[in-house]
Amino acid sequence: DEASCPEEKLKKTVSRIKHKLVVLSGKGGVGKSTVAVNLAVGLALQGKKVGLLDVDVHGPSIPRLLSLKKEKPHMEKNYMEPVPWNKNLFVMSLGFLIPSEKEAVIWRGPVKMGLIRQFLEDVAWGDLDYLIVDCPPGTGDEPLSVLQLLGSEAKAIIVTTPQGVAVDDVRRSVTFCAQLGNPVLGIVENMSGFVCPKCGERTDVFSSGGGEGLAKEMGVPFLAKIPLDPEVVRSGEEGYVYIKTHQDREPAKEMQKVVQAA
Ligand code: ADP
Repeated sequence: DEASCPEEKLKKTVSRIKHKLVVLSGKGGVGKSTVAVNLAVGLALQGKKVGLLDVDVHGPSIPRLLSLKKEKPHMEKNYMEPVPWNKNLFVMSLGFLIPSEKEAVIWRGPVKMGLIRQFLEDVAWGDLDYLIVDCPPGTGDEPLSVLQLLGSEAKAIIVTTPQGVAVDDVRRSVTFCAQLGNPVLGIVENMSGFVCPKCGERTDVFSSGGGEGLAKEMGVPFLAKIPLDPEVVRSGEEGYVYIKTHQDREPAKEMQKVVQAA
């Protein structure tokens, strides 16, 4: 009976998800959550059925990015229902469950692992075309358990910035995936140049092309170069989603490339 066998329950949940995508980054603040949210919304707007799982136990930002901060998942005896964003996108985040934003989440490894497992096992995801998982930065316990729980079919999207210092982080993330036997769908270079709001010209703020060169070197696809746009920050703060509200701008077009690659 599946209720008594967690392994079976997990297998069954995972088997109902066609594509499993895990968004990784070497360090925080590079736009990993932004990419995860825009990818999820981009797919949902194409009519795909999408689950978005935020396993960042220290700074869950997905509820804010999607204007879902006041929502609570519906609880049943044996499972939780993810929070719907629209009829195609369903969201689960620790942010829905902890009482306040200021609550410091100081949990030890095993507790975090258990929680991530529960997010997969005990959330009624149903049949999905895609599950997008927003991981905490780095190559620590959380991304490790996500990839292990989802299995080797799960593909990684690695988000980075163009600075030279990010190169080692990407290398580490690619090696991490290789060691676990998970394919890398590709690298996304975010904050790659700045588009002038007045003239529309793109200026490279940091040296550009680092991600592209590195992708080539490491033999993984390069998916997109998303420029900086103050509207990305605003859309994050106000909880509307850039790819939906700014379709004609350069960053949204680059985000669409990630959607196409998925
Ligand atoms: P991470 O998940 O990697 O920590 P976030 O997605 O939370 O990063 O992004 C960090 C900050 O950078 C947020 O304020 C976000 O709005 C901003 N940001 C991300 N991508 C861009 C971009 N292309 N242009 C401008 N600001 C961005």
